[in-house]
Amino acid sequence: MNKFTRRTMISTALGSAALMTLPPLSAIANARPSTIIRLDSNENPYGPGPKALAAAEKSAKMGAYYDWDIQTKLRQTIAEDQGIPPSMVVLSTGSNEALCAAVAAWGRGGDIVAAELTYSPHLGYARRTGLNVRTVPLQNNMGIDLDAMASAVTDSTGIVYVCNPNNPTGLTLDGDRLRDFCVTVGKKTIVLVDEAYNELTDKPAYTSMMDLIRDGENVIVTRTFSKVYGMAGMRVGYAMGRPDLMQTLNRYVMSWPNAIGISAAVAAYLDDDFLEYSRGKILEGRRIVADTFKRHGIEPLESNTNFVYADIGRNASDFASRMRERGGAESRILMVTTLTSGRPAT
Ligand code: PLP
Repeated sequence: MNKFTRRTMISTALGSAALMTLPPLSAIANARPSTIIRLDSNENPYGPGPKALAAAEKSAKMGAYYDWDIQTKLRQTIAEDQGIPPSMVVLSTGSNEALCAAVAAWGRGGDIVAAELTYSPHLGYARRTGLNVRTVPLQNNMGIDLDAMASAVTDSTGIVYVCNPNNPTGLTLDGDRLRDFCVTVGKKTIVLVDEAYNELTDKPAYTSMMDLIRDGENVIVTRTFSKVYGMAGMRVGYAMGRPDLMQTLNRYVMSWPNAIGISAAVAAYLDDDFLEYSRGKILEGRRIVADTFKRHGIEPLESNTNFVYADIGRNASDFASRMRERGGAESRILMVTTLTSGRPAT
């Protein structure tokens, strides 16, 4: 039995939570015009950065046309930075599309193995399209149980999904431990590693499985512009892996990413100043939220993401309702979505 019961779990979004002590929402350039501080969504209100916005505006003026060149440019930019050829990068409409494409491509050949509590829209998609998803319980400390995951892989497993850091717990697997898992399990099946929050981990390079991809292992890594880059609404994500894997994946991606988002993504990827600023703000918010929990006698899990997961010791839905009620008389409403069913943050 896990230490935390699902009934009382709560996960809050830090980008928004940081606003509790940082400038008011209205003072942040790109904040949505709202009186609500959204603690329930792990978007990043500090983005998009100024260079990304300028690139998007320029691209929008050419919006009448398909822009294939910008896709090539983004793939080249990422590939160069990662030390791989562009043939090892597939762009997608948010990383969610790449995740769905991966389960569609390899889940058809066998079952899909994943942790019981993890990011799951693509697993839902897999189930709805008739694929077989088998889940493995977390450890008592809420970490992903790699040994149990490895044991769950059979000859008929088509793909294994590992989210690192995991959503909704925010916990990170040790890089080398996951590397061993990927190499061992990769001999039998493909390991899909979701690195949506990699840039927010303490040790991004050590935590990432990109070195295995460079070594030609049976691993796919997905990344996104939705989190640290603050571009969730622009819908740009990507997958990286061996050219043969990327060729297959590309056949299952369903749309062409939009040129405005991709133009912004190229600028964002190269904007180190904004990245540093954004990461700093998110980590600051993470500390504020964790400290707030601790001040109230609640020990949260140690987050390496932009959300914090804690057992608040009471019904999470009731807590969210109370938060809404309290804000009702004020101009700002603190809203916290509950995880009564263990729903990962989106
Ligand atoms: N992977 C994880 C772990 C996430 O938490 C999310 C979004 O919350 C995604 C992937 C999908 O993000 P997007 O499709 O915006 O890239």
